[in-house]
Amino acid sequence: MSRYVGVTKARSDQLLRDMVQRGVLEPLAPTSVPCFSPMIMEACVHEAAHAVSMLTLGMRITSVTVSDTGSGLCKGEPRTGQGVPKPWEPLAIGHCASDLIGCIAVGYACGFRVETDDDFCGHGGGTDIANFHRRAAVLDCTPNQEAALRQAAFTRAREICNEYGEAIDAIADDLYVHHELGHDGVIRAVRRTTCAGHLLAAQMPTVAHRVPTPSPLKSVELWGHRLKDIGGGQVIVIDPQGRRSLCDNIYAAVYGIEVR
Ligand SMILES: [Zn+2]
Repeated sequence: MSRYVGVTKARSDQLLRDMVQRGVLEPLAPTSVPCFSPMIMEACVHEAAHAVSMLTLGMRITSVTVSDTGSGLCKGEPRTGQGVPKPWEPLAIGHCASDLIGCIAVGYACGFRVETDDDFCGHGGGTDIANFHRRAAVLDCTPNQEAALRQAAFTRAREICNEYGEAIDAIADDLYVHHELGHDGVIRAVRRTTCAGHLLAAQMPTVAHRVPTPSPLKSVELWGHRLKDIGGGQVIVIDPQGRRSLCDNIYAAVYGIEVR
């Protein structure tokens, strides 16, 4: 899934050169000694996985940070109006996958298994597993339901790692350099990847999350008519008498003028 599989000191120079080549890092001065920190990169992959998992739920990322000591935090705003799901519903599974995915993603990348609560605590996921238990309590799970939810969340987290590994890597790259990203920074990283379309589709119904696409057309004169781009593909046509009509796209607008 991840190009950070088996990150070691020995591979760090190559990784650093790769990052320079992809334009993520500034070229290093010839005298500077590359010092890649696998510990910080692990924290970046961990937090990036939380961020990607939240994006799959249509959440907005408030902030995602990593520190020099390798600790990190990913905060997101849940979508409103979704209510409290039943423990077996995809929304509950998705949120629990978001709780647990950090360690699972790093385990995937670095080749260790994460299954028990102790595994999580041993790999910097103590808060994550505590969050999962708290969420299971809020969802009013019986012990059996909690065990089933945990399995389903593991499966979902692994799916996300497989499907959106490229996005996790891209966010981890940027996090490694900047140490902190907001929602727009996360989206910019995702947009560099081939899974952007699929991943960002989850963001679509919330208008506030849309990144406006600049249009090459703002306002043009055509046969005495003025065509004004108002975004979203829509165009207002103002005729020589000042009458306005709304068209769904530029072709309809131009065609409309020709046949008048
Ligand atoms: Zn975590």
